[in-house]
Amino acid sequence: MPPLRPPLPVAPTLKKLGKAIASLELPAIEKIAEELMGDAFHVLISTMLSAQTKDPVTLAASLRLFEVAPTPEALARLSTSRIEKLIYPVSFYRNKAVHVKETARILVREHGGQVPTTMEELLRLPGVGRKTANLTLIVACRSQDNICVDTHVHRIANRFGWVRTRTPEQTERALYDVAPRKWWATINLHLVTWGQHVCKPVYPQCGRCILNDTCPRIGVVREGRVA
Ligand code: SF4
Repeated sequence: MPPLRPPLPVAPTLKKLGKAIASLELPAIEKIAEELMGDAFHVLISTMLSAQTKDPVTLAASLRLFEVAPTPEALARLSTSRIEKLIYPVSFYRNKAVHVKETARILVREHGGQVPTTMEELLRLPGVGRKTANLTLIVACRSQDNICVDTHVHRIANRFGWVRTRTPEQTERALYDVAPRKWWATINLHLVTWGQHVCKPVYPQCGRCILNDTCPRIGVVREGRVA
């Protein structure tokens, strides 16, 4: 068992991680936003595809889909079975095909082909939860007022001792209280990148982690071996 340590300070830790992730591969949604110039429609749809799917699979499926359907109008016109084939093998591809098609139809019908820019409107789209809505607002709309919490952010914020929560929704609420506002928009990028490369769900690589000396590692049962 690691010795009991106090929670990591939020702002200095995020600053450290910001430097450390500079050389690491970006998460899929950021890559898509970079490649497709931060287009809100692409960010929204690829975030919907990304749920419980590995990043390389999300990236490849999104790019295949956008090559055929680069706009809400084009996506709304595709059949569900065509969308299924384009996005396979993302997990739950059948449900996701239905959701992205219906979302595209709503964007065309009710929003003039644009992605809405409020949480309320985004949450009314089929298959869009708080994670997708927050990430769309942050990455595509450049919002500084949202924190996007996925499984990486939820797990690592608890390991750091920033929050003591059971669900990503609880973590999001708690982080608004403990994290300085200037970091809200970047918490996701920092912790997701760190979670994919170092602070992994199982066997985190504590031995090669820059936070090794101070991290309280709350809930970490086994650490990964460092070669
Ligand atoms: S890898 Fe280990 S030391 Fe590094 S942040 Fe995760 S739990 Fe803390």
